Amino acid sequence: MTSSNFAEVLSKLDGLTETMTNRTMAWSAINSGTANLEGLATMADETEAAFTDAGFKAERIPPAPMTEISDKGEVIEIVRGEAMLFRANPGANRRILMTGHLDTVFPKGSHFQTPVIRPDGTMHGPGVADMKGGICVMLEAARAFLSSSYGETVGIDVILNADEETGSHASAGLLAKMAKEADIGLVYEPALPDGTLAGARAGSGHYTFTVRGLAAHAGREFHIGKNAILGAARLMLAVDELNGVRDGATINMGVIDGGVATNVVPDTCVVRINVRARRTEDLNWVDSEIRRVHEEADLGEGITAELHGGVHRPVKEMKGGTEELFNLVKKAGGDLGIGIDWAPTGGCCDGNNLAEAGLPNVDTLGVVGGKIHSDQEYAHPESFVPRAKLSLLIMLLLASGQAPWPKRLDA
Ligand SMILES: [Zn+2]
Repeated sequence: MTSSNFAEVLSKLDGLTETMTNRTMAWSAINSGTANLEGLATMADETEAAFTDAGFKAERIPPAPMTEISDKGEVIEIVRGEAMLFRANPGANRRILMTGHLDTVFPKGSHFQTPVIRPDGTMHGPGVADMKGGICVMLEAARAFLSSSYGETVGIDVILNADEETGSHASAGLLAKMAKEADIGLVYEPALPDGTLAGARAGSGHYTFTVRGLAAHAGREFHIGKNAILGAARLMLAVDELNGVRDGATINMGVIDGGVATNVVPDTCVVRINVRARRTEDLNWVDSEIRRVHEEADLGEGITAELHGGVHRPVKEMKGGTEELFNLVKKAGGDLGIGIDWAPTGGCCDGNNLAEAGLPNVDTLGVVGGKIHSDQEYAHPESFVPRAKLSLLIMLLLASGQAPWPKRLDA
């Protein structure tokens, strides 16, 4: 196997740095925070034009209904943006699923809005690495593949969802459905600053406790009040006992809302918790233990708690078809002169969801960049073309039969 067979196809990507840079800059300037439905709709239109031009047919998939707990403890409905589904060769037997997200962590009013190229050539702007640059990498790799002599032999489905940054709750069904129909998944989260890819990924769960007591005036009727903040404190201490019991399983009490004034015994307290674990059995253990503590904990007389949420990103393990796919990525990288290494991470992304649906996947095929989720986010434009070539070569090696298709995780 050598990339020289594909030199001509790969060379189509040469010279695209400026095009990809300009498109990434333009998309970065469109605010598409997860709650900014208008900005997300603009990104949907932009990507529809670009992917249609590359040979795909576009569909818009409405978000699944979802609820959240407000900081007052009320169940509220959340409406997310539409996901884009682009399909090419839908009748082909072998299928590749490429996924990315239109949303960023920067809300509409964020001070971080305007992309710039710094004097050293680094691109700096919201979403340039996570992952508007990554969508450009995916787009150019897919376009070059579809126009190659193998372009009609493999089905390519692209999902660009609109709520990845908040856990893909409204797009999880779409991800799972398409993942079940594919052979491999390519996900365009940024590579680490040194070019390393993420290997195994921890799983994650979000839990919200709504603790309720009874309000009372702190001066006149203190004795009849049932303090929900104290109940929440007892519950948190009980849950915190789970930390350190299992290696690599952590529970973070992240956000707490409660109380209205110092002279009122608070009747409501909302506690938000994030759980991470590196092995499926540990994630399942934490999940069931949180439910047990919720049932058993003594919150104080007259104080109750409701639990909302659960595991939303299952653990992604480096095994089976995922390991086979990583070895193929490494081989392709070697042919292109890109050193490929991978490291486990406590972070998670849609690659976790694809693995849960049985799909071997590599989830950091986007641009090289860093400081994501901060106003220092950056990307290296010189990484765009090599990363697009990497994806293109992976697709060509599989389509041509020069590399075997990895086994599905549920095979
Ligand atoms: Zn991302």
